[in-house]
Amino acid sequence: MERTLAMIKPDGLSGNHMEKIKEVILDSGFEIVEEAVVQLDAQRASLFYVEHSSRSFFDSLVKYMTSGPVLVMILERPDAILHWRVLIGPTDARKAKTSHPNSIRAMCGVDSEKNCVHGSDSPQSAAREILFFFGDVRSD
Ligand code: ATP
Repeated sequence: MERTLAMIKPDGLSGNHMEKIKEVILDSGFEIVEEAVVQLDAQRASLFYVEHSSRSFFDSLVKYMTSGPVLVMILERPDAILHWRVLIGPTDARKAKTSHPNSIRAMCGVDSEKNCVHGSDSPQSAAREILFFFGDVRSD
């Protein structure tokens, strides 16, 4: 079994996409191990996306990520990291709508920033992000 960190971003929650996204999650064989609604402040959002801190879109990204609560979830299934990344689709939701029309970002994202959901992109980032939101949870 593998775990990943999934997030429904502020636009996903305010746009009432949570139920549909959870349906996709459960229909895809994931177990939702933990979940929490969190309001990020600028400091926490900046820390979460620290790898992007030198990018031109960083200030806008932090503003977006603090614009409302997010739902974070630990998802578990075999190959969870890759499977969730495939399900959410490409970063730019506009591209997702043409190239991956069945992806979650195609369903509820808007553009390359407001893309509705997040997923860890490696075992290292999954471990870091799960620790970031949930502390040291046991995996057995
Ligand atoms: P995430 O890490 O949120 O799952 P990702 O791995 O698909 O997304 P990254 O390149 O890590 O994409 O970018 C992190 C987030 O920064 C994106 O999800 C998006 O909200 C925002 N972002 C990425 N590229 C741009 C861009 N060119 N303009 C505006 N915002 C962007």
